[in-house]
Amino acid sequence: MSVSRRQFLQYLSPVLAAGVPGSFSPIANALSWSNWSGGQRSNPNALLYPASESELKNLVVQRKGTLRVVGGGHSFSPLVNTHGTIISLEALNGLLRHDSTTLTATFWAGSRIAQASPALSRVGQGFFNEADINMQSFAGAISTATHGTGRHLQSLSAYVTALRLLTPEGDFIDCSPEKDNDVFQAARCGLGTIGIITQITTQNRQAYKLKEVVSVMSLDEALRYVDSHKDQHAHIEFMGFPFGNRAIVKTLDETTDTDTPVNEPVIDENRLLEFAATTAMDHPWTNASLQHLIGMFVSDSTRIGPSYAIYPSPRAVPFNEMEYELPAEQGLDACKAVIDTMRRHHLNVFFPLEFRYVAADSVWMSPFYQRPSVAISVHQYYRQDYHPVFQALEPVFRHYQGRPHWGKLHTLTRQDIAALYPRYADFMGVRHRIDPQGRLLNPYLRALFG
Ligand SMILES: Cc1cc2nc3c(=O)[nH]c(=O)nc-3n(C[C@H](O)[C@H](O)[C@H](O)COP(=O)(O)OP(=O)(O)OC[C@H]3O[C@@H](n4cnc5c(N)ncnc54)[C@H](O)[C@@H]3O)c2cc1C
Repeated sequence: MSVSRRQFLQYLSPVLAAGVPGSFSPIANALSWSNWSGGQRSNPNALLYPASESELKNLVVQRKGTLRVVGGGHSFSPLVNTHGTIISLEALNGLLRHDSTTLTATFWAGSRIAQASPALSRVGQGFFNEADINMQSFAGAISTATHGTGRHLQSLSAYVTALRLLTPEGDFIDCSPEKDNDVFQAARCGLGTIGIITQITTQNRQAYKLKEVVSVMSLDEALRYVDSHKDQHAHIEFMGFPFGNRAIVKTLDETTDTDTPVNEPVIDENRLLEFAATTAMDHPWTNASLQHLIGMFVSDSTRIGPSYAIYPSPRAVPFNEMEYELPAEQGLDACKAVIDTMRRHHLNVFFPLEFRYVAADSVWMSPFYQRPSVAISVHQYYRQDYHPVFQALEPVFRHYQGRPHWGKLHTLTRQDIAALYPRYADFMGVRHRIDPQGRLLNPYLRALFG
């Protein structure tokens, strides 16, 4: 019995806490919050769910101290953690309006991509690109420059054409390239430090269908394949298993062909993956064999359907992640260096690395700012300490002038960030103007943007 590659990819990460922004639970009279992987936890003094912009404004004005907004809680970095107030815009969701002539649409910021993308399709539009999963909130996704793959496709932030946000002083700002452009440029990827976004307008395209083709090959072949085919597919990426020398290559292209039927999994892939990850954790000597066996359990597959159904590959086994965005022309060399480092250090990691392409954009704090990039991410099973893996690999990413993905783990300082992001000073200028009291900063963000 075999698992299709799509199904295997689907189960490479944790069961989504659907509808829940991270996880909230009351413990001994204290509130506790954790992100999706469980790697970030904190005890806020309040978790609030305003149901309207006026309710949001009232609570922002009335409450004292730190305010952090949470989206879907799917970031690995400590962006949301606070002992102050966590605000979720989960109740502010849905399509507000659309324009069929300009192919633009405005959503409430709390909408999950999983809701927004089908809603967009129903009015004849589609997002240009999407990430591996779709459980992010729209605001959370753009606030960290979330991206998919494709040499000519930019991060989600780059398609934003207007925003409405609330400052910590209680003022609403409607910004766009035509109005308050500096606020707009900062807030398109603002990490929740440039106000609380309530409405997002994006440039979209006509609704479309995608054909996904997944195939397994050796890791060496995959490196050559993505390089030689990167201009032949709208989207191309691979998941690489350095110890088993295997890779799962995925391409996506627009099609008008008939949809393929949706197949139910024949075996519990989640248990299979959990078993492999646990076995590799407890018995590291099995890792190479388990990774090599991927080809036995994963078969070539093709899938066709509406873009919103084909993009996401729900993740079902939790992990923690580091991702750096590197200059595209050095992407393959950087990936080879990452693979070589993993092998030389005998890093005990079963989860694959992911290799994707992202086009340059002009969003101030986007890691893709004016730089066509390759995104390389490395993952560690949530029950394993990720520090040895990320500590060994981060110097490689830094050697190639990598800029960290804001939603993922890194150890860079304010000086590093200022050197890597050409518009850091402009961003800081807007930040101080919007949030002079530093209410939108937690300790992690204060160290970088205080
Ligand atoms: C399984 C998994 C797969 C992933 N796949 C990808 C991928 O393919 N590509 C990729 O680029 N990333 C990926 N990510 C990372 C993820 O897309 C980002 O971390 C994203 O920011 C998460 O969105 P969220 O809604 O969960 O936001 P959160 O993690 O809750 O918040 C992220 C940031 O957005 C801010 N924010 C949220 N709402 C608002 C608001 N209304 N106004 C202002 N700021 C706000 C928060 O304060 C915070 O700074 C993945 C993460 C996971 C767990």
